[in-house]
Amino acid sequence: MNLILLFEDDFVATDRVILADRRFHHIRQVQQPALGDSLKVGLLNGEIGRGLVMAIDDRQIELAVRLERQPPRPLPLTLIMALPRPKMLKRTLQSATAMGVKQLYLINSYRVDKSFWSSPWLADGKIHEQLLLGLEQAGDTLLPQVHLRKRFKPFVEDELPAIAADSRALIAHPYQAAECPAPLDTPTTLAVGPEGGFIRYEVDKLIETGFQPIHIGERILRVENAVPVLLARLFPIF
Ligand code: SAH
Repeated sequence: MNLILLFEDDFVATDRVILADRRFHHIRQVQQPALGDSLKVGLLNGEIGRGLVMAIDDRQIELAVRLERQPPRPLPLTLIMALPRPKMLKRTLQSATAMGVKQLYLINSYRVDKSFWSSPWLADGKIHEQLLLGLEQAGDTLLPQVHLRKRFKPFVEDELPAIAADSRALIAHPYQAAECPAPLDTPTTLAVGPEGGFIRYEVDKLIETGFQPIHIGERILRVENAVPVLLARLFPIF
């Protein structure tokens, strides 16, 4: 936890918070602050600042909060991912959030196992938890928006053109693809396939919608590794 994420409900006065939950236990066990120490804090969807330790005991911590600067700049990216298997979903949500992704579409694809859509990890509260962990990890406060789209064709035909409008639209695809373009700080829509890859029909459909296939070398990477490599190569800094 590199930033303690605060919520409006934590405030007991304009500049005071009291924490007694998971965050308190983490602070106490890992950070072990003394009175007068200051911790990095940030208000969910708000500014980042410092929290001065005013009181701490076995049950709770009280911080005097000063918020003073904006969170890191979001990536100018909409990430479209075939829904990963449940175990990987958790990690993917956290790491995409940590990398600054603010718009994430999890979509169906032929090679996404139907059972993945009934994973308990897809429940609203569960997704939210993973996003908060990603923000705390990266020191960010802006909550990403996650959209679930269970049908590939209507999504690509009816929604995707507007989502991808005025952006460089790319499919990460290891075959018959151009080399990944040079880093550019420009709005981008990136589609990443499932473990089994997109099928030909899906790639064609995305190309029809204006997407260009790009590759990051002949080695096939797991989705969880392909995404960070792609983002590092597509954006100058993030
Ligand atoms: N077995 C699949 C590979 C899937 S890898 C196949 O042979 O097509 C999962 C996803 O990660 C891919 O659909 C692609 O979006 C991305 N990916 C992995 N390695 C890549 C590479 N070298 N270039 C571009 N995309 C890659």
